[in-house]
Amino acid sequence: MERTDIKSLNLEELTAFLVSAGEKPFRAKQLYEWIHQKLAASYDEMTNLPKTLKEKLSEMAELPSLTVVEEKISQIDGTRKYLFGLSDGNVIESVLMKYKHGNSVCISSQVGCRMGCRFCASTLDGLERNLSPAEMLDQIYRIQKITGERVSNVVVMGSGEPLDNYENLVQFIRLLTDENGLNISQRNLTVSTCGIVPGILKLAEEKFQITLALSLHAPNDEVRKSLMPVANRYPLADVLMACHTYFEKTGRRITFEYSLVSGVNDNLKEASALASLLKAQHGHINLIPVNPIKERDYVQSDRKAIEAFKNLLEKNGINVTIRREMGRDINGACGQLRKSFLNQE
Ligand code: SAH
Repeated sequence: MERTDIKSLNLEELTAFLVSAGEKPFRAKQLYEWIHQKLAASYDEMTNLPKTLKEKLSEMAELPSLTVVEEKISQIDGTRKYLFGLSDGNVIESVLMKYKHGNSVCISSQVGCRMGCRFCASTLDGLERNLSPAEMLDQIYRIQKITGERVSNVVVMGSGEPLDNYENLVQFIRLLTDENGLNISQRNLTVSTCGIVPGILKLAEEKFQITLALSLHAPNDEVRKSLMPVANRYPLADVLMACHTYFEKTGRRITFEYSLVSGVNDNLKEASALASLLKAQHGHINLIPVNPIKERDYVQSDRKAIEAFKNLLEKNGINVTIRREMGRDINGACGQLRKSFLNQE
């Protein structure tokens, strides 16, 4: 018999599960609290549950918990990078970044990725599989447990394309922001996408208060296609229209991410095209100096080019921030730690 993954169930579903197993509904509330508030990784920790129930649960239900394969702590800024093991032997990575406004965790949404963005390490070996809601949550739960510090912000910007794992993503958002769980504010949650138009439009209908980040990386389809294969499927005009709809439906401003690659998308002509493109959008742009990966020969734009690019956007009335590089000394960029781990094996 396949065991039910109870960490992926909401309280209502968990109640139905326990009732069908002949248990009283109040047990669901206790169990849910152990899983999602006290962040228990095993049934043994659940001291106020009867032994018979725990035995029944071990037989019928699975409580997926990640194991720490590797922990790296940056000497520069205290960023921590985790390589977590899943029950099937796969590994994923997550990052904890400490900011003045609180602790932020960047999680993976898939094992690998099939989007093929040219500069990204996560996609080099393609997609292995989707992560379950439990596996997404547990990246945050384990980090909060290990550090003993509250996680206040979550960004779904690690390996994988969240909108390519839509149903699990939505259940994850509901559980993470549930008042009976960690109760993280939806406003403190960001989901980053490479621009899957139907996914963006569907997410807009959920009426969440989360932030949508759109990986733009180019001001026109030609350059975008050279960096992101997904641009062949969804033209920029459609992607931006979907972002506009997301803003209209949710009132949430969009974060446009733009990784600067020397000689590819970082000249002033591109900055100017970008400014006109985003004029009608409600959002701001986050410039990311590309983090070179050894499998590709992309080069980071130099400081001067980045500043000039930023200035031109600002002159055109666009709100711009430059992403601070965190954990540079510990393979900080998307998928690099997992990739170097897999290469060693
Ligand atoms: N699939 C999602 C989320 C994962 S990547 C998406 O595409 O948005 C998070 C962000 O980091 C994306 O904007 C992605 O394009 C960018 N990124 C990935 N690898 C990078 C690298 N080596 N340097 C700079 N940005 C990178």
